[in-house]
Amino acid sequence: MPADARISAAFQQVSAEHIRANINKLVSFGTRMTTSAQDADAVAAGHGIGAAREWIRSEFERYSKDCGGCLEVKTDTFTEPAADRIPQPTVITNVYAVLKGTDSENAKRIVLVTGHYDSRNGDMTDVMGNAPGANDDGSGTAVSLECARVLSKLRFPATIIFLTVAGEEQGLNGSSHFAKMAKEQGWDIEAVLNNDIVGGNQSADQDHSVVRVFSEGLPQAATEKEIERIRGLGGENDSASRQLARYVADVGRSYKYDVGVVPMLVFRLDRYLRGGDHYSFNQQGFSAIRFTEFREDFHHQHQNVRTENGIEYGDLLKFVDFDYVASVARLNAATLASLASAPAPPTNVHLLVKDLENESTLTWDAPPGGRAASYEVVWRATTSSEWEHVQKVGEVLRATLNLSKDNVIFSVRAVDAAGHYSLPVVPTPQR
Ligand SMILES: [Zn+2]
Repeated sequence: MPADARISAAFQQVSAEHIRANINKLVSFGTRMTTSAQDADAVAAGHGIGAAREWIRSEFERYSKDCGGCLEVKTDTFTEPAADRIPQPTVITNVYAVLKGTDSENAKRIVLVTGHYDSRNGDMTDVMGNAPGANDDGSGTAVSLECARVLSKLRFPATIIFLTVAGEEQGLNGSSHFAKMAKEQGWDIEAVLNNDIVGGNQSADQDHSVVRVFSEGLPQAATEKEIERIRGLGGENDSASRQLARYVADVGRSYKYDVGVVPMLVFRLDRYLRGGDHYSFNQQGFSAIRFTEFREDFHHQHQNVRTENGIEYGDLLKFVDFDYVASVARLNAATLASLASAPAPPTNVHLLVKDLENESTLTWDAPPGGRAASYEVVWRATTSSEWEHVQKVGEVLRATLNLSKDNVIFSVRAVDAAGHYSLPVVPTPQR
């Protein structure tokens, strides 16, 4: 991917000092437990999740003021019924800012970054005790905020949403509600970047040069029929979420020296037997991935703040590496900006299979929005994890390559006049 100087200049405005101040502010609310106080008195006292919510909203509004009102600051509020980790019906509020696309057709396309602003300690019933949540997930919340601050200085053809959700620790409640709303309202969300635990916790074996990027294999939302097709075609490693993860890897290479952290793709939904907000979006059929630091320190998450046998427990500010969070924010901002600058992906991408032949012919339709100046066919060996080869085919809707469809995996992407390219689309067979 050719580096775009405008995008690079924007994400280099990401500031570790801003991120430190923002996480410090989030920690100052004492607890951001979803079931903690959110009445006017608690908000005024600056304690509990209500105060955190109001502060996040005011931050987004401040960024919007700085860009001439370019951000629409919104909330998605609902009442979660009582459940295992919610003793009584609880109001949950997601807070988000929308940077609307400048091109009416492309503005319908959405790329989204999210983190959860709720926190917890070792006791899921403790609504008063300290739950600093500096890393989990003050860090991810700070990434959404900082992306909003620096990207609101630019304009893009497509829309970017900067989201912070609550209820993650109770069962992904906030993200689940938001994703369902998006599905019901027919939002065209192309990509979801979930940042959860990106603080670079400073344990001895931490690797501050990489960030893990998790992506689902078989899509959560695939129907039985789709699963059958995936099995038949050998498409187990080609979910749309995985294409998004590969796109992040591309962005990482293009802006390597300016970003400061290298994405390390992990081909599974999430960490072993653990979950996060991207799953809520996957369930609704959206491409969504998770960013998490290389190595977590379990003394510092879901723990009461204390010292025991010389070990410090608790998710404290002092364990966060703000330069690392800033690097992860730059990688996110570069990905959001690249996708929002690119054309929509081509539609109806097919591999013609009427005749048995060793050549491969692909066809596709131009994406809506009219921004595709040309197309590229990319491919890789079936055993390779990332795209290896690219053929620029120009402004055409059909290409024949002297390569056997038996031996490689193809995809097609759309490219604009400046070289920004879309997410790739893997073809389905057409007789
Ligand atoms: Zn978390």
